[in-house]
Amino acid sequence: MGESNRIFVYPIAFFCPQGHEAHYRWGHPERPERVEVIRRALTDAGLWQVGLQVEPEKIPDEIMQTVHSQELLEAVRNHSERQQDFDLDTYLTKESWRLALNAAGGAAALARAVWGREANVGFALTRPPGHHTTRDQSMGFCLLNNIAIAAETLIQTENANRLAIVDMDVHHGNGTQEFFWKRGDVLFISTHQSPLYPGTGQLNERGSGDGEGATFNLPLPPFSGDQAFHLAYGEIVPALLDHFQPEMIMVSFGFDSHWKDPLANLMVSAHGYGEAIKSLKRWADRNCEGRIAVFLEGGYDLEAAVACGLAVTQALLGMEITDAVGPPPQPESESWLAVLNKAKEIWHI
Ligand SMILES: [Zn+2]
Repeated sequence: MGESNRIFVYPIAFFCPQGHEAHYRWGHPERPERVEVIRRALTDAGLWQVGLQVEPEKIPDEIMQTVHSQELLEAVRNHSERQQDFDLDTYLTKESWRLALNAAGGAAALARAVWGREANVGFALTRPPGHHTTRDQSMGFCLLNNIAIAAETLIQTENANRLAIVDMDVHHGNGTQEFFWKRGDVLFISTHQSPLYPGTGQLNERGSGDGEGATFNLPLPPFSGDQAFHLAYGEIVPALLDHFQPEMIMVSFGFDSHWKDPLANLMVSAHGYGEAIKSLKRWADRNCEGRIAVFLEGGYDLEAAVACGLAVTQALLGMEITDAVGPPPQPESESWLAVLNKAKEIWHI
């Protein structure tokens, strides 16, 4: 009885991929420094040290083959062996196959650590990223769909019944959406800049079959900024979560919605990211025993990486959010309001 019998729960779990530096291409924005600067910033802030360091697990074949076709898995392995790129965006080195398996295995292990209450919350610095990869095709810097594999791991091995994937990368998570399109057990919600790569993620994409009504897209115009994030994550996303009642929230976190990102211009600040995570964490605390884990996707400015990585971790830990980079210099456009109002209307929020 009492305190002595209580098992120690880490405040946070981290996954950092060992040796990921071997997946790189000179001059390519998806580079190892993206992860290393976040890890260094969290260490300097004294946050890295308080976390459980999760080791990647081997993904069983049956889970891997639920998410990806045999052709895709063989293609990634073969392209990696031959150091042959998939397309102009999506490069591979000799180590890429091993590192892609490692990232997926780390994402799965991190999800499991949070699900099983070894840690309150989790942050996986997954690299290479995953959310564009569909069942059959690697694309957009992504090789294997880490978050889909992590979700499927919880469903197949931990008896998870209802999960939410919230994608705040500036690009639409087309691969994740496609994978769960016909599934009623995984809610998929994405905010992203539109129009932008890969071009999917419109309001009317809502899933089909058992998954009809379990996919929600908020395509935001350029220069939407913190106010749009505030309405989306402070009001709309929590309402969708209320309705679906997931047992855990999994976040596809790209810091490319940040205003400094060179590949997009959604103009969100690190503080805006922190507030968004804080809102999701609050929902999790009230409804699913605080279960929330964040998985790195894109984001290509290193100062934004540091600021957003810190803000997100602070929000997960219930700390005050700092923002070393500050707000965007440009005024926000207001055209996002029409999109979000339209979404609220058609989704009855
Ligand atoms: Zn992205």
